[in-house]
Amino acid sequence: MPTTLTEDQLAIRGAVRELCRDYPDAYWREVDKAERYPKEFIDALTKSGYLAALIPEEYGGAGLGLTDASIILEEMNRSGCNSGACHAQMYIMGTLLRHGNDRQKKQYLPGIASGDIRMQAFAVTEPNAGSETTRIETKAVRQGDKYIVNGQKIFISRVKQSDLMLLLARTTPYDELKDKTRGLSVFIVDMRNVKGKLDVQPLDIMINHHTNTVFFEDVEIPAENLVGEEGMGFRYIIDGWNAERILIAAEAIGDGRWFVDRASKYASERVVFGRPIGANQGVQFPIAQAYAHVEAADLMRFHAAEKFERGEKCGAEANMAKMLAADASWEAANVCLNTYGGYGFARDYDVERKFRETRLFSVAPVNNNMVLAFLGQNVLGMPRSY
Ligand SMILES: Cc1cc2nc3c(=O)[nH]c(=O)nc-3n(C[C@H](O)[C@H](O)[C@H](O)COP(=O)(O)OP(=O)(O)OC[C@H]3O[C@@H](n4cnc5c(N)ncnc54)[C@H](O)[C@@H]3O)c2cc1C
Repeated sequence: MPTTLTEDQLAIRGAVRELCRDYPDAYWREVDKAERYPKEFIDALTKSGYLAALIPEEYGGAGLGLTDASIILEEMNRSGCNSGACHAQMYIMGTLLRHGNDRQKKQYLPGIASGDIRMQAFAVTEPNAGSETTRIETKAVRQGDKYIVNGQKIFISRVKQSDLMLLLARTTPYDELKDKTRGLSVFIVDMRNVKGKLDVQPLDIMINHHTNTVFFEDVEIPAENLVGEEGMGFRYIIDGWNAERILIAAEAIGDGRWFVDRASKYASERVVFGRPIGANQGVQFPIAQAYAHVEAADLMRFHAAEKFERGEKCGAEANMAKMLAADASWEAANVCLNTYGGYGFARDYDVERKFRETRLFSVAPVNNNMVLAFLGQNVLGMPRSY
């Protein structure tokens, strides 16, 4: 654990740990099996104010920094909970805070902070664009005081659990653009009074993530729900990427620590051939190695967060933190599963659930390949692949 945590940050960590105690393994096992949203956990987090960590105090939030928010998400995962149910609110808050106007902030932020409004959905990914976001096709066409949206999104999480969804849509056709990073815009979609057809089809995926395909057919969005300037949406999203990557890193580190804790405890207790399996170097060393990798990734995560909080450029550090932490948590997951042997596959031991959940960090919201491309091309100056 870094020695730089302030008293307040240590207190946050302790308080989140305490809250998570009320949501033990059995709770998450049941939620996972039923594929239901962990509403009770989310309600408790909202009531305690942790989900509103990044909302400024003037709008009823806690007004905390990114490091604090990352500690909250890390601690959830370290305690065996699943931050995936609520992390989006923290990931996407920056878009509204930085680029929303006063009226939008006054209209939505206090409700989000109090828990009356849930904003946990962000619709970017499309089947024909994938990682190439500037190729998205879902169109928003201005008609008087509204935009009419048509198109399709895929892998959009928590749509049915959200009152507000942020949407990235095309407002200028791709072929008409000189600068291909323009022409996309961000909208606030109020799911409570959508006019037109918004068809949400759940996807059957390996984790309990409430992820959907979403079809828009003549969906009307009031023009006043445009965030910032028309055509600047891709820039706004990029602005949020560093914060998002640092938060993902923290979540992965939380998982990594959970795996290392569980593996070392089990290895110390499970006796085979007359001694604890952890006395064997074939079992002990991989756990120690996974621990070292998680701790090293954590240093990069705090380094990135510190630079972010100081307002310095931190693209390289944020990307490295995300990748190193995702790799470390996945290594720890495999080591933990190996340590548990056959029991690692038994749902009652919770390792397989966390194993499935932590696999996501290498892939989404951004793939490790995209991180390597950023480092290779933007940091090391090598030729571009895209
Ligand atoms: C559980 C889950 C939840 C999600 N939730 C959301 C959500 O809420 N909102 C949302 O908008 N999206 C969401 N996503 C989508 C996620 O962000 C995308 O999967 C991701 O952006 C990549 O798109 P793709 O899956 O189409 O992969 P593709 O772009 O098809 O890429 C496939 C593979 O090719 C690699 N690749 C592609 N181009 C290159 C290149 N130039 N160099 C090297 N490698 C390359 C990729 O890195 C990847 O490994 C979610 C995904 C999952 C699995």
